[in-house]
Amino acid sequence: MLWNYRLINNSSGGYYTPLFLRGVKMGEYAIRKVDRVEVKIGTCNRMYYLRYENRNDVLKDKYSLDPAKELNLIFRLPYPDEDHIPIGEYGNFDRGVELINFNLLTDSDDTGIIQLTHPSGLLVNLDCHHGNRLPDAGGKSRVFWNGKASVNFKLIGVKNSVVGLLPEVECKWCQLTWSLAEWDTVLPCIPDAKIRQRLEKYAGSLIG
Ligand SMILES: [Zn+2]
Repeated sequence: MLWNYRLINNSSGGYYTPLFLRGVKMGEYAIRKVDRVEVKIGTCNRMYYLRYENRNDVLKDKYSLDPAKELNLIFRLPYPDEDHIPIGEYGNFDRGVELINFNLLTDSDDTGIIQLTHPSGLLVNLDCHHGNRLPDAGGKSRVFWNGKASVNFKLIGVKNSVVGLLPEVECKWCQLTWSLAEWDTVLPCIPDAKIRQRLEKYAGSLIG
C-alpha cells in the first residue's frame, strides 16, 4: 500500500492530508544542523517535535517536507521548561496548554464525536459539542451533566499561515482542531505568564 490518509478537521473545512508510508519510517524527518543528527520532527503538517523558531535550525530530509519553507504547518509551542531539550527529542508529542474560561462556539457541523463505554459491553457514540451543550439522545435515553468539566479546550500549537502565526486549538474530548483567526480570545485564558509572553510575540506577527 503506497498511500494512507489521515483526516484533519480544520476551521477551513475538513480536508485530507496524505500520510506517506516510507518503508518502516513514517513521519517527517530532518537533520539537526548543530550535530548532524537525524530526528523526527512530526507527522504530516503537525510539527510535534519542532518549534517555529527552530525551523531554520534543521535541514530537510530527502523525503520529508521543508519546515523552513512550507506554510500551514502546526509547530510545537515554546514551553519554557523544554528550553534545554534538543530539537526532536521532546516527550509527550501532543502536549498542549489548557485554556481556562475559553469557549469556542462552532458551526453545527463541527460537533465532533466522543465514545462512552459501559460495563455491560455497551458502546455509545455521541456528539461532543465541546462542552457547549448536551448531546441529543433518542427514545427514552436522557443525557445529563454530572460534574461538568471546567476546561474543554487546549492550545496545541502555532500555525504559520500566510497572514502570520495563528493559534491552533483542540477540543480536549473529541480532538477536533481549529485554526483561529486571532489571539485575543486565547491569550487571556493562559495563566502561565512565561509561555503567554512568548505567545504574545507570535500574536504580534499577524498582518493587519
Ligand atoms: Zn469536542
